[in-house]
Amino acid sequence: MTGELGELLLSHRQRRLVHEIRDHCTTAATADDVDADVGGPHSAELAAEVGARGWWNFTIDPRYGGARHAGGGFLDAALFAEEAFKAQLRIAGYIPTFIVVAALNMFGTAAQRADHFSRVVRGGVLAVSLTEPQAGSDIAAVDTRARLDDTGTHWVISGRKRWCSLANVADHILVFCRTAGESDRDGLSMIFVPRDADGLTIDPIRTPIPDLTCALTFDAVRVPRDALLGQEGAGFRQSVAGLNFERMIVAASSLGLAQRAFDDALAYVRERRQFGRPVGSFQAQQHRFAGLATELTKTRLLVHGVAAMMDDDPARSLPREASMAKLSATELAKRCALEGMQAMGANGYANEYGMERYLRAALGSTFFGGTSEIQRNIIAQTFGLRADN
Ligand SMILES: Cc1cc2nc3c(=O)[nH]c(=O)nc-3n(C[C@H](O)[C@H](O)[C@H](O)COP(=O)(O)OP(=O)(O)OC[C@H]3O[C@@H](n4cnc5c(N)ncnc54)[C@H](O)[C@@H]3O)c2cc1C
Repeated sequence: MTGELGELLLSHRQRRLVHEIRDHCTTAATADDVDADVGGPHSAELAAEVGARGWWNFTIDPRYGGARHAGGGFLDAALFAEEAFKAQLRIAGYIPTFIVVAALNMFGTAAQRADHFSRVVRGGVLAVSLTEPQAGSDIAAVDTRARLDDTGTHWVISGRKRWCSLANVADHILVFCRTAGESDRDGLSMIFVPRDADGLTIDPIRTPIPDLTCALTFDAVRVPRDALLGQEGAGFRQSVAGLNFERMIVAASSLGLAQRAFDDALAYVRERRQFGRPVGSFQAQQHRFAGLATELTKTRLLVHGVAAMMDDDPARSLPREASMAKLSATELAKRCALEGMQAMGANGYANEYGMERYLRAALGSTFFGGTSEIQRNIIAQTFGLRADN
C-alpha cells in the first residue's frame, strides 16, 4: 500500500483526479491573486471552466451531460470540493448547486433534470432557500406561503427568506414553502423560482464574506405548477433525505479550507526567524502543528469514508456519520485558521496574508447546513438520547 494515510480510500483514478484538479488550480485565478472581497466568492467564468472539465457535475447522469460513473461520484465530488477550497478557487456556488442537484436526482422529473442539468453541467449555479427570519434551526416554522391560483396552473408565493447563499448568481432558487397548515412539518413543499422572477427581490446581507448570502422577498411571485419538486406537502421529508449530501459536501470544502490554513501557517513558521531560529522550532509551535495534523488526517478519513458510503448506497441515510463529518471538518477549519493566525503572530492578522480570510470563511461554515449544536443533537439522537425522552 502506497501514499499517505489520508488517501487510503482513493482509487488510482481518484488519485490522478486529485493531481489534475491541483494542476488546474495552480493556473486558475484564485482568491489569492484577485481581491476576493471585491471580486466576490463566486466567479461564473471559473465555474464554467470547471464545468468544461466535467468537474462541476460528478453526480449528474451522463444522459444529462454529466460525468457520473458507476458508484455515483460522491467521493469524486468531495475530492473536487476539498482541492478547490484548499486552492481558494472562487467557486462558492459549487456547494448549493451540489445540494440542489442531489434533490433533483432524488425527486426531480426527467423534464426538471434535463432543464436544470443542462445549465449545471456548464457551471451553472442553483441556490437553496430554507431559512427565514423566524425559522432557522427549526425549519418546520417556515411561513413563506405558496398557493395555487384560481386556474390551478401557477403557484403564487409570498413571504420572506434570509441567508440564501449565492441567490444573487443562481439561475434558479429551490424555495422551501408552506403549501398547507400553519407551523407543522406536513404542508411544506419545494418549488423552483427563477432568480429573475417578477415580484422577487434579492438583497445582499452584509457579512464578513461579502456577496455570499442574501435576503429574499417574495411578493406574489408566480411560477408554473410544474416548478414543484417532488410531492406537494413532502418538503420536510425530502429535505431530510438530502441532509447527507449537504453535510458531506460542506465537510469536504471545510476540510480543504482547514488544510490550506495549516499549510500556510506551517510554511510561515518554517521561514520566520526569531531569537536566531525558525519560530517553528519552538516546542509550543511544534505541538500545535502536530495536533492539527493529527486532526486533519482523522477528519479526512471520516469525510472520505462518508462520501464512499454514499457511493456505495446513495439512498442510505447516514445521520450520525454525515453529522460527525460536518461537525468535525467545520470546527477544524475554524481551529486551523485561529491557531494558524496565532502561529503567525501579527502577520496572521494582516489582510495581505490569507489567514484572516480563511477564518472569516470558516466561521460561517459552522452555521449553514445545521449549526454545530444541531449536529451534536443529531449524533446524540442516533444513540437514543433525545430531548423529549
Ligand atoms: C454564511 C451563511 C450561509 C448560509 N446559507 C444558507 C443557504 O444557502 N440557505 C439557507 O436556507 N440557509 C442558509 N444559512 C442559514 C443557516 O442554515 C442557519 O443560520 C442555521 O440553520 C441556523 O439558524 P439560525 O442562524 O437562525 O440560528 P437559530 O436556529 O436561531 O439558533 C441560534 C443558536 O441556538 C442554537 N440552537 C437552536 N436550536 C437548538 C437546539 N435544538 N439545541 C441546541 N442549540 C440550538 C443554535 O445552534 C445557535 O447557536 C446560511 C447561514 C450562513 C451564516
